[in-house]
Amino acid sequence: MKSPVPDYLDEIIETFKDDRQGELADYIPELARADPDTFGIALTVADGRTHSAGNDDYTFSIQSISKPFAYAAALTDLGLDAVHETVGVEPSGEAFNELSLEHGTRRPKNAMINAGAIAVHQLLVGRSSNVEERVERVRSFFSELAGRELSVDEAVCRSELDTADRNLAIAHMLKNYGIIDDAPHDVVEGYTRQCSIGVNVRDLAMMCATLANMGVHPVTGQQVVSRRVARQTLSVMTVCGMYDAAGEWLTTVGIPAKSGVSGGLIGALPGQCGLAVVSPPLDEHGNSVRGVRAFRKLSDDMGMHLAEAEPQGATVVRDFYVRGEKEAVLELQGTVQFSGAEAVLHALENDTTGTDRLTFDLSRVDRVNDVARRMLLEAKRRAELDGRTTDLVDPDGVLTSSDVDAAKEAASESH
Ligand code: GLU
Repeated sequence: MKSPVPDYLDEIIETFKDDRQGELADYIPELARADPDTFGIALTVADGRTHSAGNDDYTFSIQSISKPFAYAAALTDLGLDAVHETVGVEPSGEAFNELSLEHGTRRPKNAMINAGAIAVHQLLVGRSSNVEERVERVRSFFSELAGRELSVDEAVCRSELDTADRNLAIAHMLKNYGIIDDAPHDVVEGYTRQCSIGVNVRDLAMMCATLANMGVHPVTGQQVVSRRVARQTLSVMTVCGMYDAAGEWLTTVGIPAKSGVSGGLIGALPGQCGLAVVSPPLDEHGNSVRGVRAFRKLSDDMGMHLAEAEPQGATVVRDFYVRGEKEAVLELQGTVQFSGAEAVLHALENDTTGTDRLTFDLSRVDRVNDVARRMLLEAKRRAELDGRTTDLVDPDGVLTSSDVDAAKEAASESH
């Protein structure tokens, strides 16, 4: 059977390809030369398969879509607290290139506007890093996420540097308030090179899938960034990713996202997939017109709004039955999080089997997150306190594996 998913992506391209609204960005001269008809889309699911349609191999400069990934790299290099001292996490409600800082702290409001992204860029590798080190850090990190070697588009970079007065003004403002240490010109040069890294939608969908997959690369299985860093990055994308249209985006599309001035738009749906669209004409907020429409359709058609998560708890208890005379068996299934573990505790609280033995059968369980693990172990402990003998059937070790390490890691990374 041929999967209908690529056909669906083709349908999205067909639906919006004749939509000619929006303008090409022209403040970076090289971007004004883009073909307005270019339109590509890609989707990578959390276990690594990529589907795409339209101009899926069209290479464009990543621009502001670099910001969440550079933020994730800086969080990894310096830790959450150090980055938080330099840049906040509040939506600005302003245009991407506003010369503004948070009242009181004098930090940029978030890492998705230029002031925050320029400050974050300077943090990469460490506060005393130089341009080459910082650019290589993001280039190699983005390459690792994309699964292929990426490079800087020098023509786009030169074109933006020739007209970078506004970003230079922002960098001077940051230097004045001690937010950056390096020379403003060097910071803007590094940041502009970061924005000029060439990508296509398949690269971006793969990069997003790692964020959606709690930092685990969906193809290599490597933990590329910690769960905490992935969570932080997706959270900031959720509140600040769409410039001054963030609220409209969250209510209509509901996918953590980031747009860029070259017409790219990415989304990362936690636990499910990474998405990317490119179409250069932009709306008044600087977001790709076809990109926004494609995401709205995807979210509606595929039920991708964050706030529409399916209830999980009740499905976790597959069966609860008596075997022989003295043994009750509690069969669990699927992914167990708080609500699933609560359903287990509820079943045990109302247990009228009166058996001496209680068996927890986890052979059909795929994952147990840390809180559910602690709740299940507590259920086991309390059953023993009640005088019952307990058994654990856990052939894949889901109750003892990776999430235990993840919990330790989360505890050590405060914020
Ligand atoms: N390099 C661009 C700038 O700093 C990125 C802006 C964007 O993509 O929105 O102006």
